[in-house]
Order: sequence, then structure tokens, then C-alpha cells
Amino acid sequence: MRADPIQRAIDEDLVRVLYAQDPIAFFSHWFSIAVLVAIYWPNIPSPRLFIACFGFYAVANCGSLALWICNRRYPHLVTPRGWINLHAVRGVLLYSAPGLAVWFAFQSPQTDLPLLHTVMLVTLAAGVFMSNGFDLLNFSTAIPFLLVPSIVLHFGTHTFDRTILAIVLAFFFCAINVYALSYRKLFRQVVQARVDQQYLAESLAAQKRVAEEASLAKTRFFAAASHDLRQPLHAIGLLAASLNDTAATPLQHGKTAEHIVYNVEALNQLFNQVLDLARLESGVTQVIRLHFRLSELFERVGSQYRPQAAAKGLALRIAPASVVVHDDPVLLERILSNLLSNAVRYTEQGAIWVGYRRAGRRSGGYIEVRDSGIGIPAEEHERIFEEFYQVANPQRDARQGHGLGLPTVKRLVEMLGGELQMRSASGRGSVFRFPVQPGDAGGIVASLNEAVAGGPSAQGRRVLCIDDEPSILEGLASLLGRWGCIVRGARDEVDALVALEDGFVPDAVLCDYQLANHRTGAQALAAVRNVLAQAGHDSVVTLLITGDMASAELAALALQGIPVLHKPVTPARLRRTLEMLWQQAELDKGRAAAAMDPRASDGRPEPNRWAAKAPNSSQSESQK
Ligand code: ADP
Repeated sequence: MRADPIQRAIDEDLVRVLYAQDPIAFFSHWFSIAVLVAIYWPNIPSPRLFIACFGFYAVANCGSLALWICNRRYPHLVTPRGWINLHAVRGVLLYSAPGLAVWFAFQSPQTDLPLLHTVMLVTLAAGVFMSNGFDLLNFSTAIPFLLVPSIVLHFGTHTFDRTILAIVLAFFFCAINVYALSYRKLFRQVVQARVDQQYLAESLAAQKRVAEEASLAKTRFFAAASHDLRQPLHAIGLLAASLNDTAATPLQHGKTAEHIVYNVEALNQLFNQVLDLARLESGVTQVIRLHFRLSELFERVGSQYRPQAAAKGLALRIAPASVVVHDDPVLLERILSNLLSNAVRYTEQGAIWVGYRRAGRRSGGYIEVRDSGIGIPAEEHERIFEEFYQVANPQRDARQGHGLGLPTVKRLVEMLGGELQMRSASGRGSVFRFPVQPGDAGGIVASLNEAVAGGPSAQGRRVLCIDDEPSILEGLASLLGRWGCIVRGARDEVDALVALEDGFVPDAVLCDYQLANHRTGAQALAAVRNVLAQAGHDSVVTLLITGDMASAELAALALQGIPVLHKPVTPARLRRTLEMLWQQAELDKGRAAAAMDPRASDGRPEPNRWAAKAPNSSQSESQK
């Protein structure tokens, strides 16, 4: 893959080396012309031909200098390969004249002329080896012209000493070629090493830049996060201290308590946002696609934000959308909630519009959220997707958000396989849009709003809870007991297996992830499921609860569709998840029974079919 850059680097270096010697060569050739003319001068054979030959030699030498000047002045006139080829042409023209001129020596009555001329040619050949030996083309277009005519003519004289001279010349010719070959190899290796080094240095510099940027972003992240976390904590500390003030009236105490609650809520909200984002980053959030009507989702989020919009005098318009999509309703709701809360926050007059747009001729379409608000300046379009970045909140007033909404939305959209698009300009409102997958009305299980509410109740369900922390076991038992569940607690895997042996057949197993003695909840659940499956109870619902965030094992469990809830788990979230899992287990059971029943193959669509592929998947932490 990197052959091309190396070849280019070799060519560039070759051009430098080949042309660097040319001014010296120019003077050497004038010297050679002078010497050759001088030795032939007393008795020039075929003077006209001689003048033509040496005139040509002189012109070629001047041409060579002109080429060198051209290369110096206009290095980009042709490619490096082009300059190498031109230099080879120059070699043919420049070396053919002195090489072929040895013929004059053999025409002369002076017997020492062939030897003198040959000495001159060997000297020139040595120069060619030094300056052109790096390049096969330049070397092989010069050396044969210089030496071959001489070798042939010496052989042709059939005298002993000339034949020896011809053999020595031939040997020299071969040796110089072999040396040039290893010279070229070495040259290539040197250039390759240099390119590798340069490549390494560039990639190191790029990595360093990325690391520096990441470190800067991290510093900014922690500065903003610690500020936003410290602010309400500080306020809570001061307010709590003022509760000790015996001089304060009950009314003042009441007000202080109200402020404390407000700050605790702000803190809670921030924690949830940060944890949500961290979960998205760690890859433990699962995507569960259902077929559902988009209008139902729009209505849900619309009803949440209509009062806020109305309080600011804004119209919240929801375009009628009869379309059925195949997407994750919970994740879509989080995306829409974030976008709508921004739209309401950053719009002072006009309207907010939520709707669905078809994607041209392709199937599927986009959800769009538009507002007529303050808009976002073009230079901020990238930065607003950084965590804790806000365009205009230098005081970091918590009431104006924390700058986590858009980074969360961006990651959620990417998780759903799409790309968040934005169009916005200062003072001209904003449009956010992202794709949704086309669905099938036949695949709708139930309306979104009744999907859980109409699901199986917790009343009378048997739940096995595994946790090594007695207070958590107690809390869970009390909560589940209030829902009408029959609860059995277990401190570890062994305890849980004992409960099964005692005949406790659970409808659900809730298990903490980190158990005592370096055991994990995944191992405990696998053991429990195994025993239950052997006894023919394979539709039991299992749920892991963890405070762990970025473990690779958890991410792997999420990929396998094993439901995971992240602490802190609110009772509502736990109940919704359990009910959804029970509902799904019942649907799976019904489907399995229908598949076994021969009367089921009457061509009618299956009733109540989850479209989600993951058999045991749950919405885990995204249940609110
Ligand atoms: P937050 O809204 O909590 O500040 P976000 O990450 O959601 O954080 O948004 C980052 C920044 O992008 C906001 O501070 C705001 O300046 C800008 N922004 C987001 N949505 C809009 C919008 N609809 N109109 C104008 N500005 C917006």
C-alpha cells in the first residue's frame, strides 16, 4: 500500500542526485572535448565528420546545462519521473559522441591514439558511475555508448595487446554494472528507511496531536463537570447549615428546605445525564426495535413539552404521522425529549415543529424537530456536540442546562445506525433531523402507551433476589412485596441453588453483578438458569443489576441480549423492566406453542409478535 509514496520519494531523491552533479559534468565534458581535440589535432582523420561529431558533443553538453537550469528554475514543470527520463535522454546525447568518436582513433596512423581515447572514456565512465549509478535508466543509457564501441573496435584489431585491452574493458564494463546494481539497492534501502522514518514521525506527530486534543477535551470536561456538580452541592451545604439557625421562622425553614430539594433535584438530573452518557459510551445500552406508529411517540413527547412551550407563548406543532416505523421507541423518546427541551429553551417566539419526512424515493424517512429560536452560529456547529459545551452560558447557570443534551442525542442516533443532521444559523432557528427505519403495521404488538401498562402484573409473581448486601436484599424484598410478589432472598449462587432445591420456582431472578468471593452475577444467573432449564422451567426472566459501567464483560452481556439495569435503579424503572420482560416471555411462550400446534399454520399472521430479534433483550437502563 505504501509502494507508491516510496517510489515517489525514490524518484524525488534521484532527481536531486542526478542533477546535482551536472554543473561539474559540464566542465568535465569541456575538459574531455579539449583533451580529445588536442590529441587528434596534429592529424585529424575525416575532418568534416570529426567537426560534426565534436560539434554535436559540445552542443549536447550545452543542452545538458540548459536542462539543469530548467530543473533548477521550474522543478514542477514535469513529474520527478519525467525529469529522470529527460536526464536519460541527455545521457544518450552527451555520451554517444565521445563513445563513438573512438572510431577516429582507429582511423589514425598514430598507434597510441586508441589507448589515449580509451583512457579518456574510462575516466568518463567512472564519472557516470558516480553520478548516474543510482538509476538504472540513466546508467544503462550512458555506459554502453561510452564503452561498447571501444571494446568492439579493440577486439577487431586482432592484436594481442589490443585484445587484452578489450578483455579488460569488457571486464570493467561488467564490474561497473554489478557495482551499480548493489549501489541502486543500497540507495533504495536508504530512501525507504528515510520514508519510513518520516512516515513514523508524521504519524507520531498526528497521534500526539490527537492525544493533546483529547487531554484538553478531558480537562474541559472535568472543569465543567466539577463546577456543575460542586455548585448545587455547595448550595446544599450552605442551606443545610442554615437549617440549624434557631432564629429562623418556620416559613424561612420551609423555603430553605424547598431550595435544598431543588438543588438535590438538579444534582440528580446532572448525575443521570452524565451516567446516561457514560452508559452510551461503554456500549452496554441495548437497542430494541419494535414496530409502532410514530404518531403515538410524537403524542407522548408532545404532551410532555406542550405545557412548557405554552408557558413561553410558543406553539408546539406536531405534524400528523400515520407512518409505522421499526425502531427503538425508548431511545427515540430520549432523543426527541432532548431536542424538544432545547427547542423550547432556545426559542422565545414563534413555533416548534415536530414531524416525519419521507426520504425521497428510498424507503424510510427522517424525524425532524424545527424551531424558530435563536439559532446556532456556524462556528459553533462542531463544538456544541462536545460534552458540557454551551454556546452562551459563561456563568454555567444550571437552569440553562449542562451541555450534555446534544452529545447524548448524537450518540443515541449513532447507536440506532443513523446520523444526526443539523441546519442552523444565528437568529434563524434550527432544524435537527435523524433517520428512522420503515416498519410494518402487521408487526405492531400493542400501542406504545399500553405496551407496559397492559402487560402482566407483578401480583403473585415469585422473584428470587441474589445480592451479597443484606440491606439491598431487604429493600428489594420490601419493594417487591408491596407489588404483591413472593420474594426469596439469596446471598450468593449457593444460596440461590438451595432455594431452587427447596422447590422455589421463580418467575424472575434479580441478581447483583458483583457478588462476594469474586463471583459475578452472570455466573450465578447461568447456574440458576441451568438448574431451572433441567427442571423444564426455561421461560424464567433474569435481570442483572450493576453499578459497574464500562466492564467489557457487561458490554458482551448487553450484546448477547442479557438484560442489565444500572444503579441507581428507581422502583418505577425496575417495575417497567420486569413487566416488559414478563410480557415478552409470555409472547415467546405463545409463539413457541403456536409453532408446535399444527392448526397454527393456517396462514394467519401471528398475534402479538415482538419484532425485536434479541430473545431476552430488555430496554435496560433506558426505561425511565
Ligand atoms: P444544553 O442545552 O443543556 O446547554 P446541549 O448539549 O443540548 O446542552 O446543547 C449545547 C448548546 O447548543 C446549547 O448550549 C445551545 O447553545 C445550543 N443549542 C442546542 N439546541 C439549540 C437550539 N434548538 N437552538 C439554539 N441553540 C441550541
